[in-house]
Amino acid sequence: TARTHGWTGTRILTVANQKGGVGKTTSTVNIAAAMAEAGLRVLVVDMDPQGNASTALSIPHQSGTTGIYDVLIDGVPLEEVVRESPHVPGLLGAPATIDLAGAEIELVPLVAREHRLRRALDVYLSSRAEGDEIDLVLIDCPPSLGLLTVNAFVAAREVLIPIQCEYYALEGLSQLLKNVELIQQHLNAELEVSTILLTMYDARTRLSADVAAQVREYFGPRVLRAAIPRSVRISEAPSHGETVITYDPTSTGALSYVEAAAEMRQLQEVSA
Ligand code: ADP
Ligand code: MG
Repeated sequence: TARTHGWTGTRILTVANQKGGVGKTTSTVNIAAAMAEAGLRVLVVDMDPQGNASTALSIPHQSGTTGIYDVLIDGVPLEEVVRESPHVPGLLGAPATIDLAGAEIELVPLVAREHRLRRALDVYLSSRAEGDEIDLVLIDCPPSLGLLTVNAFVAAREVLIPIQCEYYALEGLSQLLKNVELIQQHLNAELEVSTILLTMYDARTRLSADVAAQVREYFGPRVLRAAIPRSVRISEAPSHGETVITYDPTSTGALSYVEAAAEMRQLQEVSA
């Protein structure tokens, strides 16, 4: 089969920003869907108790469903909770139920509390049959820097930060970068902020352009050239249990995520 990406093994990215509403979940599921449509086998791990990524992928996550909570707290194998999204072949998801809200506290006294997702993922990834390996894992984080996000940072190699092109967008970013640094020093030396994605970009406003320019100046080539526009189709898709990639494939929102995903595949080819 034709190679559609430039790396070997599994690439693992955590999508993080402790601010809510910046497009973490939207970017996670749409990049995942775009990658799966490009032929990659993709796993989305939903680490947010709200379960919005699970909803967008039509993966059941009502209370009582076995999900990431059971993986982290009770050591249930990830394999037992992973489901395929009905709309996109090759797109898998591990659901989050509302129980996960309690995990922030319940993890505290547990052995290896920061490494529980990593261990579960290691077992899952290495047990995949030959030819059936996962190419990409995207972990959707809650809007906090607690133990759930720490687990995501420890499990990943890369951090993708979505930045909303709005006033105050850069506020809190230094705290996020500082936390990544602490994780590098103490828990996961390999972690790097590899990708920045501008979201809710409005080409008509000076503010969006200003924020984008500042972010590009600070982060340089790590900022994807594709910026995600503000789009009603993007925000409508989850209520249909879909990503915009299948809900309205020719919309500007869908095309921008397809472009972002294509860039993420290329970037790796260059640096590999
Ligand atoms: P987070 O996961 O960071 O909290 P979400 O991805 O859930 O953020 O996005 C917050 C809200 O903004 C959601 O209602 C989502 O549908 C909407 N949204 C996200 N990206 C866009 C966009 N590009 N255009 C319009 N609405 C968007
Ligand atoms: Mg979210």
